[in-house]
Amino acid sequence: EFEVEKTEHIFKILVVGDIATGKTCLIKRYVHGIFTNSYKSTIGVEFALKVIQWQPNVEVQLQLWDIAGQERFTSMTRVFYKEAVGAVVVFDATRPATFTAAAKWKADIDGKLGVGHEIRKIPIILLANKIDLDHPDMPDKQTIQRFCEDHKFDGWFETSAKENIGIDQSMKFLVSEVLEDA
Ligand code: GDP
Ligand code: MG
Repeated sequence: EFEVEKTEHIFKILVVGDIATGKTCLIKRYVHGIFTNSYKSTIGVEFALKVIQWQPNVEVQLQLWDIAGQERFTSMTRVFYKEAVGAVVVFDATRPATFTAAAKWKADIDGKLGVGHEIRKIPIILLANKIDLDHPDMPDKQTIQRFCEDHKFDGWFETSAKENIGIDQSMKFLVSEVLEDA
């Protein structure tokens, strides 16, 4: 008689991006399977927990940290970034300015991860959200791909919190990248 070794991971994942890009809706969809149109911008940091049975003997608990209304401060305090092992930067496919801003969010994460001169790298993905809407002004795929290479994102995905498109897939990718580093 023997026991199967079980592994549990707890991963802190940051979700950042400009205001109203859909960060809270993406988290609600991913964690609770719901979408509501009501717009609420809370102040503070909220976090949601998603438990994934990654393998029969591997459980992953994702703590999704939502900056919830702090977007106006443009850069977050180090405490928010502390011990994060992965991050999601969200832009709104219908608002090009939020795509440009994704570079700023990425730089903010990179700049605050390290302690002193030590550099810490974590997997970071980019989400083009709201693709269920018309998005004629969204940069084309090549431009986004190029942007990801230039700013060293680990990957990018088209998502819709409303129609539940691309979310599981993007999170699966992020978790697998995080597990490689774990
Ligand atoms: P946050 O400020 O980034 O947290 O943005 P919210 O999650 O609060 O969403 C902002 C607004 O965009 C809300 O009115 C949502 O209903 C809407 N929204 C979010 N995601 C989607 C989406 O995938 N498709 C559509 N059509 N609307 C969305
Ligand atoms: Mg929000």
